[in-house]
Amino acid sequence: MKAVYLEAPGVIYMKEIEMPESKPGYALIKVKAASICGSDVGAFRGNNVLVTYPRILGHEVAGEIVEIGPNDKGLKPGDRVILDPYVYCGKCYPCSIGRTNCCENLEVLGVHRDGGMAEYFSHPDHLLHKVPEEIDWDLVPLAEPLTISLHSIHRAGLKAGEHITIIGAGPIGLVAALAALEYGAVPILIDVLDERLDYAKTLGISNTINSSKTDALQAIKELTLGVMSQAVVEASGSNQAIRATLDYVSYAGRVVFTGWPKADTELPTALITKKELDLRGSRTSAGEFQEALDLILNSKVDVGATISKRVAFEDLAQAVVDQSSTPEKYLKIISVF
Ligand SMILES: [Zn+2]
Ligand SMILES: [Zn+2]
Repeated sequence: MKAVYLEAPGVIYMKEIEMPESKPGYALIKVKAASICGSDVGAFRGNNVLVTYPRILGHEVAGEIVEIGPNDKGLKPGDRVILDPYVYCGKCYPCSIGRTNCCENLEVLGVHRDGGMAEYFSHPDHLLHKVPEEIDWDLVPLAEPLTISLHSIHRAGLKAGEHITIIGAGPIGLVAALAALEYGAVPILIDVLDERLDYAKTLGISNTINSSKTDALQAIKELTLGVMSQAVVEASGSNQAIRATLDYVSYAGRVVFTGWPKADTELPTALITKKELDLRGSRTSAGEFQEALDLILNSKVDVGATISKRVAFEDLAQAVVDQSSTPEKYLKIISVF
C-alpha cells in the first residue's frame, strides 16, 4: 500500500510500505479521507522539534473499519470513523484526571508515531469515533481541527454574550470564531492578511482587525465599549501576539494559548496580577469529537468553508510541498480517496 512518507525535513514522497499488522485492541481502517494540517507542513519544514524522522504524516484522518475485535464502543467492520490522533498512556497524573490531551507520554500521529495518510491504518479501537452516514467524507477529517478550536474555547470558558478575541485567522482561529458565534459570543478575529479577514467576513465574522495596519488595541477598545475582551485565544504562535494578549484581555479575563511559538515571550507579570487574569494553555483536544461531529452534522459550524483545495491521494505528498511554499494560499487541502 502507499503512504505519505516524510523521509527527512524537506524530503517527502508517496512510498510503497507494508500493510499494518492486526494487533489486539487495534482496528484496521481503510482510509477514505485526510486533510493536511499546518503541523504536517511544520514537520516537512523541520520546524517541529517533537517530530522524529522518517515519519508517515497525517492526523486528520477518517475511514471505514475493515477489522476490529470486541470493543467497548460496539464498533464493527463497515462503520465510518474518525481517528482521535492523540495516543495517551492512561497511567500518568494528567491521564488519571481525564486530561489525556496533556499526557506526559502523549504520542501524536505524524509527530511521535506514524500517521494515517496511507491506504490503510491501524489505530487503538478506543480512539475511534463513529461518524454519522450523513456527513460527507470530505468534511469528516475536518472534525479534528474543529476539536482543537473547540478545546481552545472550552479552555477559555467562553460564555454567550462575551467578546472573544482570536489572534490568527488560519483554520484553527477561523473555525474557533465560527464556533464562538454558535456559542452566542462575539468573536473579534485578528490577522495580518487581508485576504483571510475578508474571507472570514463572508462567513459571518463581522469584527475583523488587520493588526499590521490598524491599532488592534484601540479597535478592540471601541468594539467592546472599553471593557476589552473577556476571552482571548492566541492561535498564531507569534511572540508579539502572545505579548499583546495581556492588553487585549479585559480585567478578570481569560487568555488561552494554543499556538506554538518558536521562541520565549517576555510577559509583564504585574499586569496579570493587576487584571487578575487566568492564563491557560490549550493543547490538542480531549473529549471534543462528539461535539465536533454534532456541529458538522447539524451544519452549525461550516468546516467545509476551510477547504481551499482538493487533491487525489497520489498527490498528497506534493500538496504538502505546495502548502509549505505558499502557505497563505491555503487554509485546508483535503483528499478523499
Ligand atoms: Zn492538525
Ligand atoms: Zn498519560
